[in-house]
Amino acid sequence: MKSFYIETFGCQMNVHDSEKVIGTLERRGYAQVQSPDEADLVLFNTCSIRDKAEQKVFQRLNENKRAKGKVIGVLGCVAQQEGEKIFEKAPHVNLVVGSASYPKLGELLVQIERGDRRVTGLSLDSDDTFETPMTRRDNPHRAYITIIEGCDKSCAYCVVPFTRGHERSRTSDSVMNEARQLAAVGYSEIQLLGQNVNSYRDPSPAGWNFAQLLEAVGSVQGIRRVRFTTSHPRDFGKDIVDAIDRTETLCNMVHLPVQSGSTHVLAAMQRQYTRDEYMRRIEWLKGSKRSIALSTDIIVGFPGETEEDFQMTLDLLDQVEYDSIFSFKYSPRPNTGALSLGDHIPEEEKGRRLTMLQEKQRAIQIRRNSALVGTEQEVLVEGFNSSTGQWIGRTSQNRVLNFVAARQALREEMIGKYLPVRVTRAGPNSLAGECAIAV
Ligand code: SF4
Repeated sequence: MKSFYIETFGCQMNVHDSEKVIGTLERRGYAQVQSPDEADLVLFNTCSIRDKAEQKVFQRLNENKRAKGKVIGVLGCVAQQEGEKIFEKAPHVNLVVGSASYPKLGELLVQIERGDRRVTGLSLDSDDTFETPMTRRDNPHRAYITIIEGCDKSCAYCVVPFTRGHERSRTSDSVMNEARQLAAVGYSEIQLLGQNVNSYRDPSPAGWNFAQLLEAVGSVQGIRRVRFTTSHPRDFGKDIVDAIDRTETLCNMVHLPVQSGSTHVLAAMQRQYTRDEYMRRIEWLKGSKRSIALSTDIIVGFPGETEEDFQMTLDLLDQVEYDSIFSFKYSPRPNTGALSLGDHIPEEEKGRRLTMLQEKQRAIQIRRNSALVGTEQEVLVEGFNSSTGQWIGRTSQNRVLNFVAARQALREEMIGKYLPVRVTRAGPNSLAGECAIAV
């Protein structure tokens, strides 16, 4: 039997693509192994969203360059972006496949098995979404479901439209069947995935929009939690907040990337919304009957961002009071619109802005998490930390809540359970608590 090793970089879309690649390979009789040394086929599923992530891939390829007799493959965004140039930079690579070509993965593997030395799948011209009858999921309780692939926006800093192709939505039937199958085998949490889930359009005659799909998945028997990522503010409708209000299983959590608090920078980023339009969506979310936690993505040091623009981003943090943020320094990426704007802000200044932003957010998180001390939160138990003796749970708001249980319990008794936990302490990134229920 042939064996394979896969290493994944980047976002949840990549993590889930790797799960599907694993399913495809296992169907073809390959067995997964845990180190490249043991494998006949070594795959790197790559990310090119930032320069650092891309450099890491070439570093890993370099480390595996003496691997004799193995097939080495590069999948994902770096594969799509660099294409056949990868063979020049790393001549020991045999397979280069962008994520829009994964539906052809089976055919490409046949070519490799036949002994072809260099095989590529780089077409972006696909109407298919990558679906496989066998997706290998490692988490037995939480499962990803892709509902839309690709992106039709053209944010000036982003490589995704070049690496994942144009938007292709799955039929609602196909999504619902997968959700029901997952519930039937015991998954209780589902995360709907897409680069821009809000622009989901059911291609079947049912013609559902995203809010309709969300509500339907939330109504599947056995599903207790539904999350979704990621949203684009321009396409984020009030109907999504209404669906959350109506459907208890939809989590109290929305990730709504803002990128900048300055309308002038948003325009340069080609984000297609103003600060005021973004804030209207925040008002809808804050007006919900539910207590919806908010998170966002922010880029500092985008070309042309002045001190005043940056102060507007800091001011936005005060206004919204996010529960968490993902923040980055701008780095120019190949093929993107922002390349023509240059990259004039020195690294040191970008670093100063990032530190200020993160310090402000840390104070906000301490404040927001502290407000939960004394409350009871339902957690899904995800693991056990033997060094602290605490169970690791996650709340509907996506907060990590580490807790001690009333009595010693076995992992199999606890993991995957939903339990009420009383919050006793709060830090900037997690909560601590106690569960009174003897499982
Ligand atoms: S919406 Fe913008 S940032 Fe998001 S994937 Fe599409 S182009 Fe990139």
